[in-house]
Amino acid sequence: MGLSGFAEKLIAGRWIAGATLDDAVRRSKQLNGMGYKVTLNYLGEALREKAEMERATAVYMGLINAIHRNRLNADISIKPTQIGVGSDVGYAKKAYSGIVSAARNAHVYTWLDMESHQYVDATIRLCLGESKKGMVGICIQSYLKRSASDIRRVVRAGCGVRLVKGAYSESSRIAYASRDAVENNYISLMHYLFRHSDNFIIATHDTRLIEEAEELNKTYRRHVEYAMLNGIRNSYSKMLVKRGESVLLYVPFGEKWLDYSYRRLRELGHLSLVLRSLLPGS
Ligand SMILES: Cc1cc2nc3c(=O)[nH]c(=O)nc-3n(C[C@H](O)[C@H](O)[C@H](O)COP(=O)(O)OP(=O)(O)OC[C@H]3O[C@@H](n4cnc5c(N)ncnc54)[C@H](O)[C@@H]3O)c2cc1C
Repeated sequence: MGLSGFAEKLIAGRWIAGATLDDAVRRSKQLNGMGYKVTLNYLGEALREKAEMERATAVYMGLINAIHRNRLNADISIKPTQIGVGSDVGYAKKAYSGIVSAARNAHVYTWLDMESHQYVDATIRLCLGESKKGMVGICIQSYLKRSASDIRRVVRAGCGVRLVKGAYSESSRIAYASRDAVENNYISLMHYLFRHSDNFIIATHDTRLIEEAEELNKTYRRHVEYAMLNGIRNSYSKMLVKRGESVLLYVPFGEKWLDYSYRRLRELGHLSLVLRSLLPGS
């Protein structure tokens, strides 16, 4: 077996649903049966060719249809640069609004992933443009110093928030550099969400942050969802489901699984997560 065959077995099987829409549906049914909700993401980013963006848009349309037809407990999450943020903002707006309105009709929630800092403004603008009619949310990264102000803007406009630490390599001019600072900001943003939002997701594998959220919820009694990446900390997420928490798994699918997997493996921050997730019982 060559490297790619080996990697396919090791990585695609564990973290990615597979290459096709059918794979995504199959994995979602399986995870729904285990008590998880899923967020489906079609792999792809930094697209420059209009034809590729149109194809990504068409896949999301097919995905919405499949979620509806199969009555999956699932929503979708789009990477802004796969529909033109950063290269063709006019197309991005049109594609996003088409996807969101098809999703609303099918009672499917649409999330926007957050990519690196140069796309944050355009991503927020997309979400705000659709916030009045609801069913849209956006990822906010606690490593960015600007996030305290961004989170207020999007919550006030009625967007849902998926709170994460952040996965890109950013300069210390705009991002907190130490683990403590990123986590302290996560906690502070989380407090804001508990006080002011009833539509947010605590997306982390960090036990300390999840326990802090559970503690806060004894006071605020929100409908909190906890989210993890598919295949990471399986036994912990199962345990959360068992104790009655609402748990959502982020499940990518698509032909570009190899790029995605190599990039994640290269990101040192993820390496320990990735390796630990391969251990039995993780
Ligand atoms: C649902 C979801 C959606 C995301 N969307 C985005 C996005 O749109 N944009 C973006 O920039 N980033 C996104 N991310 C990635 C995120 O920004 C972080 O890079 C990633 O989640 C790792 O950070 P962490 O909070 O899990 O904590 P980490 O600091 O990586 O890990 C925290 C702690 O968790 C524990 N832990 C983790 N894994 C294991 C394990 N296998 N076994 C035992 N203990 C373990 C350890 O105690 C570890 O110290 C998303 C993450 C999730 C879960």
